[in-house]
Amino acid sequence: MTAAVIDGKAFAEGLRARVGTLAVAFEAKAGRKAGLAVVLVGEDPASQVYVRSKGKSTLEAGMNSFEHKLPADTSEADLLAVVEQLNADPAVDGILVQLPLPAHMDEQKVIATIAPDKDVDGFHVINAGRLAVGQTGFVPCTPLGCLMLLKDRLGDLSGLDAVVIGRSNIVGKPMAQLLIAQSCTVTVAHSRTKDLADVVRRADIVVAAVGRPAMVKGDWIKPGAVVIDVGINRVAGAVEGKTKLVGDVDYASAVAVASAITPVPGGVGPMTIAVLLRNALVAAYRNAGLELAADAV
Ligand code: NDP
Repeated sequence: MTAAVIDGKAFAEGLRARVGTLAVAFEAKAGRKAGLAVVLVGEDPASQVYVRSKGKSTLEAGMNSFEHKLPADTSEADLLAVVEQLNADPAVDGILVQLPLPAHMDEQKVIATIAPDKDVDGFHVINAGRLAVGQTGFVPCTPLGCLMLLKDRLGDLSGLDAVVIGRSNIVGKPMAQLLIAQSCTVTVAHSRTKDLADVVRRADIVVAAVGRPAMVKGDWIKPGAVVIDVGINRVAGAVEGKTKLVGDVDYASAVAVASAITPVPGGVGPMTIAVLLRNALVAAYRNAGLELAADAV
């Protein structure tokens, strides 16, 4: 068997188009555009690229983008004041503070200052709690994107065995919560898991969010399983001096066993920004007290 390739890039483009249409409808109903604020502290090159790309995508989706770039030596108190100001600004529906923050800042404290109903990253403990107990809130973008790809591929997930490798607050834990809510039987694996290959072999759905290049081998995969590879790892490429991106799954061997698999790049990666835009749009509808059908985006 050769697995179907799950085209995250195409799915993300479709999602962005749906968000764009609903952003136009929002503007007509609310009399203003939806707005997403992104706060960047310092000059980390990767973060600068992400923030630029988020700003451009926000504008393309027909929403206002508010960028706040603060110097690396900004005090924590000054950053918290910026967040408070955005919390109070009715033109701002979603707030994202780009991580990582400089070492002199307490990330948890900063996240805790974001108004939960503007926390479009879904990192606030209130939103983690809402997800855990099944209340409406905001779900972190990457795992929500993975769930969208899985539902698009498999439809009803109930009763399926799922293994999530990784237990971070950003990917692994919320991914597990989302799969539980879909009535999967979920196992969460991590660095202390014994016989990981055997654990993975039981799964109809494998979500790998580890950060180790090509760790999950094809012979760990149950034939016909659906594999979602969240990993983004930069390794030496075939051409000397050039690097390339690979996932946490050994694609060449897994593609021969799985029924469907996300490639890296072009799988989960493009979903993250698309879901961020989706969350910002949903925040705008909620903040304006406007109805948005649960399955609209
Ligand atoms: P973290 O480093 O926060 O978490 C990694 C997890 O993997 C931990 O729970 C860790 O276990 C587990 N782990 C480490 N080594 C092993 C091992 N040998 N066997 C089993 N489990 C192991 O990473 P993130 O969750 O933030 O990210 C994971 C990957 O996803 C990274 O490659 C990252 O770049 C990528 N990513 C991609 C995104 C996208 O947009 N596509 C967005 C976010 C992340 P333990 O808890 O025991 O230490």
